[in-house]
Amino acid sequence: MKVKLAKTAGFCMGVRRAMEMVLAEANKGKGELFTFGPLIHNTQVIDLLASKGVVSIQEPQDRKSGRIVIRAHGIPPEKRKELKNTGMTIIDATCPRVVRVQAIIRYNSRKGKTTIIVGDKKHAEVIGLMGFAEGPLYVIQSKSDVAALPPIDHAFVVAQTTQNEENYREVVDALKNRFSDILVFNTICGATRHRQKEVRSLTKQVDAMVVVGGRHSSNTRRLVEISQESGLPTFHVETERDLKKSDFQGMQNVGLTAGASTPNWMIKNVFRRLEGIRGRRETSLVRWVRRAFKFVVLSNLFVASAVFCLAYAVSILLEKETELIFPLLASLYVYAMHTLNRFLDKGAGIYNDPDRAAFLKRNRYLLILTAVIAIVLALVLSYTIGRTTFYALTALCILGIIYSIPLVPEVIQHKFRYSKIKDIPGSRSLSEALAWVAVIVVLPLFGMDRIVWSSTLIAMLVVFKLSYTRSALFDIFQAQGDLIVGIETLPITLGEKRTIHILKIVLLTTAAILIGGPLLELSSAFSYFLLVSGLALYFCLIVYETRWLYTGITLEALVEGSFFPAGILALVWQAF
Ligand code: SF4
Repeated sequence: MKVKLAKTAGFCMGVRRAMEMVLAEANKGKGELFTFGPLIHNTQVIDLLASKGVVSIQEPQDRKSGRIVIRAHGIPPEKRKELKNTGMTIIDATCPRVVRVQAIIRYNSRKGKTTIIVGDKKHAEVIGLMGFAEGPLYVIQSKSDVAALPPIDHAFVVAQTTQNEENYREVVDALKNRFSDILVFNTICGATRHRQKEVRSLTKQVDAMVVVGGRHSSNTRRLVEISQESGLPTFHVETERDLKKSDFQGMQNVGLTAGASTPNWMIKNVFRRLEGIRGRRETSLVRWVRRAFKFVVLSNLFVASAVFCLAYAVSILLEKETELIFPLLASLYVYAMHTLNRFLDKGAGIYNDPDRAAFLKRNRYLLILTAVIAIVLALVLSYTIGRTTFYALTALCILGIIYSIPLVPEVIQHKFRYSKIKDIPGSRSLSEALAWVAVIVVLPLFGMDRIVWSSTLIAMLVVFKLSYTRSALFDIFQAQGDLIVGIETLPITLGEKRTIHILKIVLLTTAAILIGGPLLELSSAFSYFLLVSGLALYFCLIVYETRWLYTGITLEALVEGSFFPAGILALVWQAF
């Protein structure tokens, strides 16, 4: 079945920020860590945090130490004072957009105006907001509540950030009709507004809507209501296990969205389950092609082919007689190392890419066996080239495997901050990029009669920059899972925005090298052709940034596919 995934599905900025703050604190492991109330309304996330030692408490009681996180909804000022007096360290994860509403309430109520909040008075955010009103205060939910309000001279109205837009508009209209002097603030969060707008538009394009999120999450429930109002069959699920195949019988397209407190991995699980249901017009051929494509990408055959193409193109840049044996060696090596390292993964895979994690589990024997065969084949081939190539490749294989293996005995691991190379912050992208340079550029140098150093240096820089960008892009896609298991990558240290900015600079400097090389007669004109891979990666960055595609198999294939044009152009170059 075709699944249309809402671009706005999943964590909003405030929830993501709060999650990142809690996980960063949990990964520090310095004493007890609490959240003041459940961090978000999502049972699975709460369970996950509990497994990392994060405990949700409703009251500080007689606690005198430890760290306590104020969740994105915020708390009333008196509660904050109470927490401060306990001696606990406060980590404030109140969403900046909620802070703005709190400030509006404090400022206007101090000026003597009556506060009217449109929202659910039992909701944590509203409870927090109420604490900022310094004067008369009313919390109402719908336009029917307006008539029950007493006469008010000067008032102002704000909305709970996750309010339904239409409901708020109706309430405001009713308030304006009743009170002549009322100041209106539209405090509905943009993230909520866009999410609701997208659901309205999706309902016009699909046969049914699925909304993923906690049963207690008010913003998720509102998405369900909006979809139901359109008359479309709507299913509110917490996990993929709540989906019933029979509900989607005879349907062709289904829309999928998720509340602001739903993590990516849960959305992906539901997406995968829905995709697996046979659509009305889906032929066996289409199903087969889709499965084959998925197999090729998930099994690493796709990245191995991409490396083949890049290595083939680079061999022209190296001004080397093009032999297929080196691209083949590079591709066998990358296939084997990527596959084996997936199995040595720390566990982030389940959160980053549940689809791949399930695929790996299902096909583990086949994949491990083919990876071992690939290493043996690569070593045999390298031996036929020469002993130096063989020794170099053997060393690379050993390095590739020990990357994920503890180098320190388990009993003394606690004495060291890092026990594996993989645990060193930022090592994943760097190691992958260096390994690609080694197999694509350095390995073919052994046995070359004449090395053109200028073009070799250009090839090294270009391969490093392109593969580093590729790898860092995957780090961005996997940030949520990496943060959960405590892997420190560039996007986790610097943040997504800054990482994307850095990657754009990396690609622009790659373009400068590729253009400057032939102009300064440092490399052949084939250099220009490699620009296509840089451009393709830049395009992937834009696609991700603008959320044209959600992180998943298609975006992954698009990133890996960036190297295919270089191989095709190399073939064309050779032909003429
Ligand atoms: Fe902040 Fe908006 Fe998310 Fe609420 S919905 S936490 S206001 S970003």
